[in-house]
Amino acid sequence: MMPIWENTAYLVTMGTLFGLSVGSFLNVVIYRVPNNLSIVKPDSHCPACKTPIAWYDNIPLLSWIILGAKCRHCEAPISIRYPLIEGITGLAWALAFGLLPLEQAVLFVIMFSALLAVAVIDQEYWVVPLSLIITLLIGVGIGLGFDLIRWQFALKGFAGILVLMTFIQGLTWLLRKDVGLGWGDVQLALVLSLWLGLELSLMGMFVAVLVAIIVWLAQSQTHNFTWDRKIQFGPYLAIAAIILGFFRVYAPDWLEHLLYF
Ligand SMILES: [Zn+2]
Repeated sequence: MMPIWENTAYLVTMGTLFGLSVGSFLNVVIYRVPNNLSIVKPDSHCPACKTPIAWYDNIPLLSWIILGAKCRHCEAPISIRYPLIEGITGLAWALAFGLLPLEQAVLFVIMFSALLAVAVIDQEYWVVPLSLIITLLIGVGIGLGFDLIRWQFALKGFAGILVLMTFIQGLTWLLRKDVGLGWGDVQLALVLSLWLGLELSLMGMFVAVLVAIIVWLAQSQTHNFTWDRKIQFGPYLAIAAIILGFFRVYAPDWLEHLLYF
């Protein structure tokens, strides 16, 4: 008989359940890490009335629906971001365990979960927390240790992106006496280069820059059109990396065609 961890239905079910729980934890990370609060103490509580949240009111997706998006005690609204993060994480974990080889799925969900937190935190607080960079580095370390990422591939990516980052920061400093990218973005690009290698990192950065420019232009319709208005870069880089990191394993030939059309 086939061992149970080779059964796709079993893997997808477990992936979904673990993903939903991790998504629930990511909500805690996203709220507490940028505010310099501990992620383990105290237990979850309503940010409005501080009442601790009972386990039955803390079930991913379901509790938000059952409670009608309101705190049981003070009726303060609960943002739709909570079930969204849980649902997206559950879906990503399900896809990974359903479509990728098991070891690669484990690596992907680590990187995905940290990157989702990076994307939301950078969007909201304009910062890429060091603890999440370290989490990504641990993921890369696991990948290298278990031969899911080749050393040569990782180091070539790192060296190339290091040169590119030095060039971008150096050039913008010369032109405007200010660096073009935040240092958190630089750290993020460097750790991602170890995971994605040179070609995909360049592709990810290119797409992220393109999307950031489009968003910047769209925002300029309502904001003042000033050339030095900044925009977050981490969310676009993180999302591009998630997509490329998935297809790097799921459809490498397709990505190669895209790269060298
Ligand atoms: Zn409350």
